Amino acid sequence: MTVVYLLLGSNESNRQHNIKQALRLIALKGCEIVNQSGLYETEAWGLKEQQPFLNQAIAVRTALPPLQLLGTLKSIEKEVGRVETIKWGPRVSDIDILFYGSSVINEPALTVPHPFLHQRRFTLAPLSEIAPQLLHPVFNKTVALLLQECEDTSEVKPALNLEL
Ligand code: AMP
Repeated sequence: MTVVYLLLGSNESNRQHNIKQALRLIALKGCEIVNQSGLYETEAWGLKEQQPFLNQAIAVRTALPPLQLLGTLKSIEKEVGRVETIKWGPRVSDIDILFYGSSVINEPALTVPHPFLHQRRFTLAPLSEIAPQLLHPVFNKTVALLLQECEDTSEVKPALNLEL
């Protein structure tokens, strides 16, 4: 079993419902959810002209190997309602693999730790809520330190009024 950190996101249709569905399917398909952050309301990153996202970081325990996990998560995104759109465009469901234990993976279809995680406040803020002391195996820095050093100025705030 490996502890894996995921980031869930949605900025289309009923965002809260979409995240809830993704959580339900993740728990049904070979992952035990062991920790989850609150929901965060976050400004779109990359392509700014779109609705804000809801994001949540979770920790799961799984026996699925990395590429199999990626395939499972992609099928869950589809099941929640994702259709292919432009890169960094609006999406009903997005699930990123942030960390897979302390593995460093460089496959054509999968880069772990996630290649942008240290540049994205919308990832680091929820992740830091559940795993501030987790060590990035490439930068050798904790998630809390990466958040402190992150230069991303896009708005990220806890969605205190929302619960799953
Ligand atoms: P996205 O549009 O964010 O869902 O990501 C598109 C593609 O990124 C996926 O089809 C994956 O093959 C690839 N990818 C590479 N590394 C990762 C990762 N750590 N987590 C999720 N997707 C990844």
